[in-house]
This record gives sequence, structure tokens and C-alpha cells, in this order.
Amino acid sequence: MQRIYGLAFETKEELEKYLKMIEEAAKRDHKVIGQKLDLFVFSDLVGTGLPLWTPKGTMLRILLDDYVWQLRKKIGYERVEIPHITKKELYQTSGHWDKFKDDIFRITTREGHEFAMKPMSCPHHTQIYARKLWSYRELPQRYSNSTTCYRDEQTGELSGLSRVRAFTQDDAHVFCRFGQVKQELGAIWDKIVVPFYKSFGFELKLRLSLHDPAHPEKYLGEKDKWLEAEEVLRQLAKERKVEFFEGVGEAAFYGPKLDFMATDSLGREWQVATIQLDMNQPERFDLTCVDEKGQKERIVMVHAAIMGSIDRFLSILIEHTAGAFPLWLSPVQVSILPISKKQNAYAKKVMKELLVASGELRVELDDRDESVGKKIREASMQKVPYQLILGEKEQKAKKVAVRTREGKDLGQMGLKKFLEKISLEIEKKK
Ligand SMILES: [Zn+2]
Repeated sequence: MQRIYGLAFETKEELEKYLKMIEEAAKRDHKVIGQKLDLFVFSDLVGTGLPLWTPKGTMLRILLDDYVWQLRKKIGYERVEIPHITKKELYQTSGHWDKFKDDIFRITTREGHEFAMKPMSCPHHTQIYARKLWSYRELPQRYSNSTTCYRDEQTGELSGLSRVRAFTQDDAHVFCRFGQVKQELGAIWDKIVVPFYKSFGFELKLRLSLHDPAHPEKYLGEKDKWLEAEEVLRQLAKERKVEFFEGVGEAAFYGPKLDFMATDSLGREWQVATIQLDMNQPERFDLTCVDEKGQKERIVMVHAAIMGSIDRFLSILIEHTAGAFPLWLSPVQVSILPISKKQNAYAKKVMKELLVASGELRVELDDRDESVGKKIREASMQKVPYQLILGEKEQKAKKVAVRTREGKDLGQMGLKKFLEKISLEIEKKK
């Protein structure tokens, strides 16, 4: 069978707008920009769909992950760590083995046992919760863990960072009583998802992802529980007075979800953060707490991935920003560009002062014997937010001439003033 796709436009303007978007999207392709900015690489020897991160790309990942962690820490999350493999019994218990066994990388140990590379972190985390008997007073338990997961995708399906075989997920899990769900979901939404996406200028849309009543075989658990869980999410969305649409059949196999869609600078929509209410995994793993009367009570589990996969989120962010990351996130924040060799000593002194005063600023000195025009062009191509141009005049005045990557001349200023300016910008995550 051959499929032919067509698009129709009401007006010529609309068509032109669309063509322009396509052209711009091609220019912003994260695979192209990733190579230009030296962020990640693929190797034939390692294999397709297995990205390798360079020092600059790794810096981006650490900063993004830390940002999410800082937001989580404020609302009571703790960090946990887990291995990359597990006995297959873990997934048989969770139900993942039946649903996804074709996507799971398998390992046979030399003793003949079957193990699996983890395709997600949730089942491992249930076993951290299950280590002891909890009192209701100790709940919620909130576990945060960015960890690499593995899925055996078909080679033809792989594409840049959007679809890979190894990706780092930032899925966190809250183990709590049913009565605590609304509060927990609301906190993730208001205090993590919203500020995180706002700082990159993404608009968010919401999909309430429900089970499909026509296909009960696709889901774990009883229908009543599903309806109850779905109603909690619906109420939460209604209370926040945000627009949302219901996606029937979009739920996870263990529970309904709040899925957030981000609109990027080209008007394209991407599914990003997800908050899921899971009443089935706790059942399958027999997770409980002791209630006020000393009785065992079944708990529920909340899954909350903010970026989803860091790798895929970076592919979206690279295309959204065209590689011009906000100052706080830029792998190199300031380039020092002496006009001639005569200023190299002064440039080194400026670099040292910046590093001492700021502590963590990421500064690069370009003291090659090249024209300053070339140095400026290259720093701008690398999307370094600020360039400090140092000539005889600046050296004499003990100042720096500041230029932005967009080519805006901010004039001469003292180092202290420049530091104040960028510290504020970094703090505000601009
Ligand atoms: Zn999860």
C-alpha cells in the first residue's frame, strides 16, 4: 500500500508561512546544531540510537537535571539510585514483561538466569519503598532519580535524539495515600512543571489521558478504580481553570495521566512533562502503609517526569532556541577576545578575575593569533552569550567592551558592573 499525504491551505499567506516554518525547522535541526555546537556524537562502533555526550553537551544535561532537582528538593523529594539491570521477575510482577517484552533488552547471565536492561525506573523504585513497613505518618515518600533506561527500538525508527535506544529519564515517584494524591499532583504541576517550562518560554497545553473503555485488555486493574483515578485528575485540571482536552486511549497501561504539551518558537507542539496516577503497581507489588487504626492500607503511586527523557528534551530545546541557550544554561557563558597579542596578558588577568569573583562562571579565552573579526564570528556561531573584546583602549581604562551573540554592542564597562549584570541574569534564569 502506498500512502500519499497532502496539506491544504486557505490562503497563499498561510502556505507561505508554512513553507517558511519548514525552512526554519530544517535550519534548526538538532542533529545539525548539535554537531556545530559540539554537544553530542554517534559512533558506528557504539551503535545507532546510542548518543555519546561531549563535555559541552554533558554540561547542558547536568544543569538541566540540577534545575529540576532544585525545584523538587523544595517540595520534599529525596534522591535514590538504582542499577541498570534487573531479574525479569521484577517486570513480570509489574506487568511490563507482558506488555513490552519485545522492547526490552535481555541479558542471560553465565549461570543461565534471564535479566533485563531497565526500560523505566518505576518497578525498581517500588522495591525501595517496600524495604520497610511505613506508618501513614511517614507518607508521602518521594523518590527522585534521573537514570538511563534502555529500549530495543528498531533501527529504522531511530532518529537523532528524538528516538534512541538509551535515554536518561527524570521520572520521580511519590508513594502516598489516596487522600494525598491531589496535593501531591498539584505541587508537581504548580511548583515544578510550570516554572520549569516558563523559564524557556514554552507555552503549555494539557491533555487528560484516559483509558479506552472499548479496549479494557490494554490496561491493568478494575474499571471502577480507573474511573476514580481519572476523576481526581479531571478535578485537578478543572480547579486550575486551565484549558484541557481529554485523550481517550492515551493513558499508561497502569493509570491515567496529565500530559503537558509545549509549543515551541516555531509553533510546533511536543509532548513533554507527564504526571501519572497509578493505582495498579502498588496492588501488584503489595505496597501498603499502616493507618490510624493499625491496619494495613493499600497506597497509590504517582509518577512525575518533568523533562521526560533529558535527551529528547534537549532535541526540543535545541530546536526551540536554535542553540542560543539562556545564559545560565550556556556551556560557555563568556568569551574573552583580545584584539591582538599585546592584550593577551590583560585578557588572562580579566579571565582570572572573572573566575575568582564569580566562582562558577564558564569562561573561555581565545588568544589565538587570529583577527578579532574572526574570533567574534566564531564565538557568535558557537552562541556564546557574551563576548568581551579587549583592545588597547580597554586595557588602558581597565575595562572591557561587551558584545552580545546577537551582535549588540553594550559598550565599555568595568568588570564589576559586567559581573553584576550577568549574575542577575543567571539568577533570574534569563
Ligand atoms: Zn514511573
